[in-house]
Amino acid sequence: MQGLGLDNNKKINYKLVRSNRKTLALHIDIYANLIVRSPQNLSVSKIEKYIESKSDWIINKIKSAQSKATHLPEYIENEKFLFLGNMYPLVFGNQEKDLLFDGNKFVLSSDDGKKSFLRWYMEEFNKIAIPRLSYYAKKYQFQYNKVRIKAQKTVWGSCSSADNINLNYLLIMAPIHVIDYVIVHELCHTINKSHSKKFWSLVDNILPNYKESKSWLKENGYRLHNL
Ligand SMILES: [Zn+2]
Repeated sequence: MQGLGLDNNKKINYKLVRSNRKTLALHIDIYANLIVRSPQNLSVSKIEKYIESKSDWIINKIKSAQSKATHLPEYIENEKFLFLGNMYPLVFGNQEKDLLFDGNKFVLSSDDGKKSFLRWYMEEFNKIAIPRLSYYAKKYQFQYNKVRIKAQKTVWGSCSSADNINLNYLLIMAPIHVIDYVIVHELCHTINKSHSKKFWSLVDNILPNYKESKSWLKENGYRLHNL
């Protein structure tokens, strides 16, 4: 995106999403686009007036989202990669496996760094996160149907009406309390599909510090997409 999302008339471009909400809310997504959530009947002129009044904040947010969005790794020596919330350096090796982790560093032996990391993250998610899903389901008696894992741009987890749970395996880059939060969040959706007060108190009963995990994701989520 160029020009900080400003069009030729120096107006900020935005995507308008109307719903039954009561207030206006601004959100900059990971692609540095401004999303405006508005009540059904609020006029466009009022919406744009509001956007204008917040333009300094918006432009700062877009700038920082743009710089984050474009920081993709080059898979070179000493570059750092996330695993369970910590950063570890990359070195090159000639082992048979594309990518190894020895507890202190990653050792890459393939030309396709991105593919190797994605595969490794997926394997680790299966090893580390999926047993935690079973653990929480068993301990708190949640019943889910199938679980699928995939890398997604915008969703960390979801739970379908048939209680199939999807989890984003890029979460393996996040601290374990964040992985637990997403798992518990989706498990709670097997009982309550909304984000109502009741739903959040279910989450809170199991993970009293869930707000910390939620804000970690909000702050750092983009880092899990930098591959
Ligand atoms: Zn949810």
